[in-house]
Amino acid sequence: MAEKLTDIFGIDVFNESVMAERLPKKTFAALKKTIENGEDLDPQVAEVVANAMKDRAIERGATHYTHWFQPLTGVTAEKHDSFITPAAGGKVLMEFSGKELIKGEPDASSFPSGGIRATFEARGYTAWDCTSPAFLREDAAGVTLCIPTAFCSYTGEALDKKTPLLRSMEALSEQAVRIVRLFGDKDVTQVTCSVGPEQEYFLIDKAKYLQREDLIFTGRTLFGAMPPKGQEMDDHYFGSIKERIASYMKELNQELWKLGILAKTQHNEVAPAQHELAPIYATANIASDHNQMVMECMKKVAARHGLTCLLHEKPFAGVNGSGKHNNWSIVTNTGKNLLDPGKTPHENIQFLLFLAAILKGVDENAELLRMSASVPGNDHRLGANEAPPAIISIFVGEQLEDVLSQLIETGEATRSKQGGKLNTGVHTLPELRRDATDRNRTSPFAFTGNKFEFRMVASSMSIAGVNTALNTIIADVLQGMADELEKAENFDLAVHDLIKKTITEHQRIVFNGNGYSGAWVEEAARRGLPNLKTMVDAIPSLVSEKTISLFERQHVLNEVELRARAEIHYELYSKALNIEAKTMIEMASRKYIPAVIRFTKGLADSINSVKSAVPEADVSVQTELLVKTSSLLAEAKAALKDLQACVVEAAGKEEGREAAEYFKDVVFPTMARLRAPIDELEMLVDKEVWPVPTYADLLFEV
Ligand code: ADP
Ligand code: MG
Repeated sequence: MAEKLTDIFGIDVFNESVMAERLPKKTFAALKKTIENGEDLDPQVAEVVANAMKDRAIERGATHYTHWFQPLTGVTAEKHDSFITPAAGGKVLMEFSGKELIKGEPDASSFPSGGIRATFEARGYTAWDCTSPAFLREDAAGVTLCIPTAFCSYTGEALDKKTPLLRSMEALSEQAVRIVRLFGDKDVTQVTCSVGPEQEYFLIDKAKYLQREDLIFTGRTLFGAMPPKGQEMDDHYFGSIKERIASYMKELNQELWKLGILAKTQHNEVAPAQHELAPIYATANIASDHNQMVMECMKKVAARHGLTCLLHEKPFAGVNGSGKHNNWSIVTNTGKNLLDPGKTPHENIQFLLFLAAILKGVDENAELLRMSASVPGNDHRLGANEAPPAIISIFVGEQLEDVLSQLIETGEATRSKQGGKLNTGVHTLPELRRDATDRNRTSPFAFTGNKFEFRMVASSMSIAGVNTALNTIIADVLQGMADELEKAENFDLAVHDLIKKTITEHQRIVFNGNGYSGAWVEEAARRGLPNLKTMVDAIPSLVSEKTISLFERQHVLNEVELRARAEIHYELYSKALNIEAKTMIEMASRKYIPAVIRFTKGLADSINSVKSAVPEADVSVQTELLVKTSSLLAEAKAALKDLQACVVEAAGKEEGREAAEYFKDVVFPTMARLRAPIDELEMLVDKEVWPVPTYADLLFEV
C-alpha cells in the first residue's frame, strides 16, 4: 500500500515536478517566476505550457479541457471544450493553445452577479490561475483536463471566490513583509498564508436518501423525530470504522492522492454516521481549490458505494452538525511560521506583535468574520451546543493569556509558563511532554500552538471567503502597524508600546472559558461583543462603511463587488428557505398527512369493529390514540395552511434584504410549527405506514 501510494500520488496533477520534467528549462524557470514572485506571464510561455499540459492529458486519456472556476453560487462551474481541431483530409488534430489556456469566455449570464451585470451583458472571462496546478478528472464523461481559473465580468469585477482570495494573499504578503523587515529579516520577500481545512460530513444509505425529498432538495431533514439513541453514548466519536465506510474512505483517499491532495487523517465524528477528513495544510489558494475537489470527490465516491454524502451543516436536528475547521497560519518564503511563539513567547516580540494584530483585527471585524463563515445551513449549527456560538472570541490558551496579562498589568512580560512532563503513573509508557496549553473545543477562533483554528466555518461552503476576510483584516492592521513603526525613532520602544496598547484595547476578545455556556453569552454581551444569531443579521457587515473602506484600502474588493456579494447572500438565503418551505409543503401534503389519515381511519375502523363484535370491550387505547393523532393532524394542517400562505406572500416581497428578513422572521418559525406536530405523530403512528425512512433508519443503518 505504502509503495502504491507514492506511485499514484499526484498522477492526475500537472504539478511542479511534472512541469520540471516536461517543460524546457527556460519555460519552466519563467513560469516559476510568475508563480512564486507574481511576475507577468509571457504569452509564449503559456503556449509551451499549454502544449505540455495537453500532451500529458492525452496520455492519460483526456479528450476535453475545462476552465474550472468558482462562481458566487458556492459550487464550482465548468464548461468543457474538446481538444479537436479540423485537419486536412477530414481528420482532426488534438490542439490546445496558450490563448485557450490563459483565457476563457463562458457565457456567464446565469451566474449570480448581484446586479453587477444585466443578463443581456453575457460576457464573463475566466483567467488561468497558474499558482494552482491543473488536474485531470475522470468520470463518466471521460478524462478532462481541469484548469483552475479566476472569473470576472466584462468590466473587471470579480464574480468569483478565487480572485479576492488571491488579492487578499497579496495584500497580506505585502504588509507582513514590511513588519518582518522591521525586525531585521532582509531575506524575506513574500509571506503566504497556509490553510488546513478539516472537513466534516455524513454518509447515509443512498436508497434511503432517495426516499426523502427533504434530503434530495435541501440537503437536510426537515422532519424527523429523535431516535431512542442519539450521540449521548459518545461511542461513535473516534470509534472503529465500519467496513462499508472504511472501503469508502480508502477509495476516497486514493482519488484525492491521485489529485495531489494530501488527505491525511480520517475518523468518525461525534454524531452517528458522521465522519471527518483532514488534509495536510497548503497555501490558502491551493487549499481552497483542494477543498472544493475534496467535497466533489466525497460525493462522487459515495455514489459508487451506494452511499450519499451530506455536506449540509445540519442534516439532522438533535445530533451534531458539520463544520469545517479552517486552520490558518502565516509563513515566510524562508519557511518561518510567523505564528510560532517558540518555547518562550514572552521573548518573541515579533510573534507578540502578530498576535496583537490578530486580536485587533478579529475584535474590530467580528461581524464580518461571522458573515464570512455563514451559509443558511450554518444558522442551525452556530450556538446549538456543538459548534462554537455565533459570538466571535479568541482562545489563546493559558501560556499566552499569562504573557498577555503580564504585559497589560506591568507593561513587561518576563516569563512564560511551561508545559512540563506528563505523568501517566505507568512506568512502561513513554514519558510525554505536555504542551504549555490545552485545547479549547468551544472557541470559534482558537490558537492551537502555531496557527489559529477558525471553527465557525460552514461545512458545505468554500473556504475562499473566510480566508479572504482573515487575510484582508490582518493585512490592514499590519499596514497600520508598519506605518507607525517605520516612522519610530526607537523601534524597540515603539513596538513594545504598540503591543501593550493593542492588547490592552482588545483584551475583551480573548476568552479562554467554555464558549457553550449560557454565562458566556451574558459575559460577551457585557463586553459588547456582537452575537449575530442569523446569517441575515450578519450580511450588512459586508457593506458597512468600515468594511468597504478596509477592502478598498487593501484592493481586495471594491464597493460594487461588496454590494453585489451582499445582494447575492440575501438571495441565497431567501432561495434556500423558499425551497425548504416548499419541500415541507410537498412532504406534508402528499406524504405525512395522507399517511396519518390512513392510520386514523385504521383506528376508527378498529374501534367500530371491536365495538360491534364485543359491545362491552375496552377501546380506550384506540380512542385515545385516535383523539391524539387527530388533534395533531389538525395542528399540522393549520400550520401547513399558514406556511402555504407565507410562501405566497414571500414571493411578493422585494428581492434582497426585505425578502430575506421575511423568510427569517416569518417563514422560518412557521416551518418549525409544521414540523413539531409531524415529528410528534412519527412517534405515535405505526412504523409500517410511516412514509419515509426515520432518523434511526438513516443514522444507524449505514
Ligand atoms: P484537530 O486536533 O483540530 O482535529 P488535526 O490535526 O486533525 O486537528 O488538523 C489540523 C489541521 O491543521 C490539519 O489540516 C493540519 O494540516 C493543519 N495545520 C497544521 N499546521 C498548520 C499550519 N501551520 N498552518 C495551517 N494549518 C496547519
Ligand atoms: Mg479541529
